[in-house]
Amino acid sequence: MLLHCAHARYVWNLAVEQHAHWQPGRKSAPGFAEQCRQLTEARRENEWLREGNADVQQQALKDFAKAKNARFNSGFGEPTWRKKFRHEGFRVIGTDRVAEFNDDGTPKVNPTTGKQVMGRSVVVHKLNRRWAQVKVPGCGWVRFRLTRPELPGSKTFRVTFRNGQWHAAFAVIPEPVDAPGTGEVIGIDRGVTITAALSDGRKLNCPQLTARERAQIRKHQRCAARAPKGSARKTAEYAMVARFKAREANRRKDWCEKTSTMLARTCDLVRFEKLNIKNMTRSAKGTVQEPGRQVRQKAGLNRAILAQGWGLLRQRTEDKAPGRVEDVPAAYTSLRCSACGWIDKNSRKSQAEFVCSFCGFTCNADSNAAVNVAAGQGGIPRPRRSAGVGGVTTATSRSSTREPQLNWVGIPLF
Ligand SMILES: [Zn+2]
Repeated sequence: MLLHCAHARYVWNLAVEQHAHWQPGRKSAPGFAEQCRQLTEARRENEWLREGNADVQQQALKDFAKAKNARFNSGFGEPTWRKKFRHEGFRVIGTDRVAEFNDDGTPKVNPTTGKQVMGRSVVVHKLNRRWAQVKVPGCGWVRFRLTRPELPGSKTFRVTFRNGQWHAAFAVIPEPVDAPGTGEVIGIDRGVTITAALSDGRKLNCPQLTARERAQIRKHQRCAARAPKGSARKTAEYAMVARFKAREANRRKDWCEKTSTMLARTCDLVRFEKLNIKNMTRSAKGTVQEPGRQVRQKAGLNRAILAQGWGLLRQRTEDKAPGRVEDVPAAYTSLRCSACGWIDKNSRKSQAEFVCSFCGFTCNADSNAAVNVAAGQGGIPRPRRSAGVGGVTTATSRSSTREPQLNWVGIPLF
């Protein structure tokens, strides 16, 4: 499988090179069909390439063509170089011939020949509840852990190798989760101390690395720093660090998947406050001439923000519940009282505590913000400021028993 990875990477990088040297005015860079012809030629001349699987190499070209076509919309831009150990992977195309069907269940028929259209399907068998096996060319059956109860029915799959782990990913677009139909609207406030505060009072936290695991990371980083340059020990220590980082990312991803499924299943409408994470995590470094202040602190905050998986949670909820996710402008959601709508920055006593300066409503600050997000755009209407004589409006001044009013020298008016 590592050899498959090497072949796929080699072919991909050749394609990148062909397109990188293309300049306006020259003959256009070769497309997929032309590249496939060139691949056949290259396989004839190059023994190393010939020993590999032709389908794997051709799929690398197909991946490149897809990436090239989607470069304006995918968010990844132009396809770039693949590096050994970093971008290891290859795509396998299914070998089973199966009949294709239209959306209404009738067999798909080729309009010119009148024959039934045959598609490809991956050969995959379920072994038991947890394990299944899939056929990889040149390797025979490869067992893998199932992450879903049902078997994937896809035409191709991609095998990747990262941080010492092999993964098989089947490209299947799952059906969206059905709305419960209860009309429940939930607001979510995302924060650093509480990852997601829900408007019904629940507080969900994204699992982080334990203190012990963080200490292990520091230990391995220290060992790596002290090991001689280019030594096997340095590589091994950095590999250990990477494994811990991968573990953290896996935990975050797992949590986001489970939470977004829960939200999609139990709520009809999910409202998130609109965050610009890219701007929020901007570095404070500044320039050489004008260095920023508190650069390390900001870097730490940025790391904490990114470790919460805010963007992933929003993205996956949208994927599972299309059309049932809304973004609410984040302005004043943390300062507005969720009981009366009063906005006052003094209401927020501390990071966790919210005490309304108008009606005295007391609540956890994050839950308060979540209720405001659930109220949607515009939020809870603000109360009219009562006719106090320029003084601070308090809860008592609204009550029916009026306090005696004082004039400017402190003598009661009545
Ligand atoms: Zn209030």
